[in-house]
Amino acid sequence: MIYKRSSELFAEAQKVIPGGVNSPVRAFKGVGGHPIFVKEAKGAYMYDEDGNKLIDYINSWGPLILGHAHKPVVDAVIEKAKKGTSFGTPTELETKIAELAVKMVPNIDQIRMVNSGTEACMSAVRLARGFTGKDKIIKFAGCYHGHSDSFLIQAGSGAMTFGTPNSPGVTQGTAKDTLLAQYNDLENVKELVEANKDDLACIILEPVAGNMGCIPPAEGFLEGLKKLCDENGILLVFDEVMTGFRLAAGGVQERAGVNADIVCFGKVIGGGLPVGAFAARNEIMNYLAPVGPVYQAGTLSGNPLAMAAGYAMLSELNENRNIFESIDKKTEYLHEGMEKVLKDNNIEFTINRLGSMISVHFGNEPVINFDSSSNSASLGTFNKFFHGMLENGIYIAPSAFETWFISDALSYEDLDKTIEVVDKVAKTL
Ligand code: PMP
Repeated sequence: MIYKRSSELFAEAQKVIPGGVNSPVRAFKGVGGHPIFVKEAKGAYMYDEDGNKLIDYINSWGPLILGHAHKPVVDAVIEKAKKGTSFGTPTELETKIAELAVKMVPNIDQIRMVNSGTEACMSAVRLARGFTGKDKIIKFAGCYHGHSDSFLIQAGSGAMTFGTPNSPGVTQGTAKDTLLAQYNDLENVKELVEANKDDLACIILEPVAGNMGCIPPAEGFLEGLKKLCDENGILLVFDEVMTGFRLAAGGVQERAGVNADIVCFGKVIGGGLPVGAFAARNEIMNYLAPVGPVYQAGTLSGNPLAMAAGYAMLSELNENRNIFESIDKKTEYLHEGMEKVLKDNNIEFTINRLGSMISVHFGNEPVINFDSSSNSASLGTFNKFFHGMLENGIYIAPSAFETWFISDALSYEDLDKTIEVVDKVAKTL
């Protein structure tokens, strides 16, 4: 494939945008080479500026669960835009999407819309601190909750890819209130809680991790955290930015049958427009301004175009719950197909999957936390794999520390083609 135009555009972009990108993982710095500049996309495919067609396994990092330019979403945005793009007043649609989210997600009474997953998690932690009157939080190494200061401590995603899990610019004062635990290690969390019992506002985690590759929670891990939180007056915060409205209509709370105290959303809830949200039961949400004392706000929060896209997306998922089973099956098919060809080619690998989140590590140690994800990353092999896939028209995440996001727009022919390419590329590793 030829990527001449993308290469030229990247050179231009780097002059006026730091690193040529508005979000670091896009830069391909981890895998080398230059990013692909996309011109348009439809369904399962993206078309780049050089005219290449790519089967997409990222789907804008998760939001596009029904594929690109999904007609009901696009139509809703166009119709809304004609009537004005922002008012800064309440609109009826905000109540409608809130009602729908509250209906789909178990265990929440109220939801507040923001503009990104970062804002959702940042606000959730502030609310947890305000509600409990305590300062410290526990997060897990390799989990990513956006780029707000409290979370850039052993963070996953781009921070992990670029070797900057602890970012300069985060003050020691802030960092000292974030305690770090190992994912899937309940004993480790118990020790931290025991030592900091009176100071802990919340434990925040990705209930299925997707920012160090895909890492499902070990059996009993989520239940154990819930019990520990309840016993110690700590709030459990599920960051369902990736998993919400993807792993089930009600996210991991529904799928695993474990209730959190505060839940964060992003990605799917905005249908591809900039939306995040956080939700909880009345008792907690009533702590939020203007009802309660914890301040949180946004000029464009609940923006009509974003709400139109999100409402169209959630309505379809709500009305057609078979979608979740359909994408799970497609992902399972991909999993089995890739597993077979990688085995046939004697490649060392570990595939982790839960529902429509899946990732491949080129090592055979079980990948269960930050350390095993780093140890098993085999970056040289991953980078070759990534470029081999791209060269053959398959677009996967440009980092070993990201999950792939399957969309229901992918056909079984697309999956077969992808498995064929994995076989072809495996022979070169
Ligand atoms: N939480 C999780 C679990 C995420 O995966 C992400 C982003 N990938 C975020 C929070 C931050 O969301 P955003 O990029 O929309 O700020």
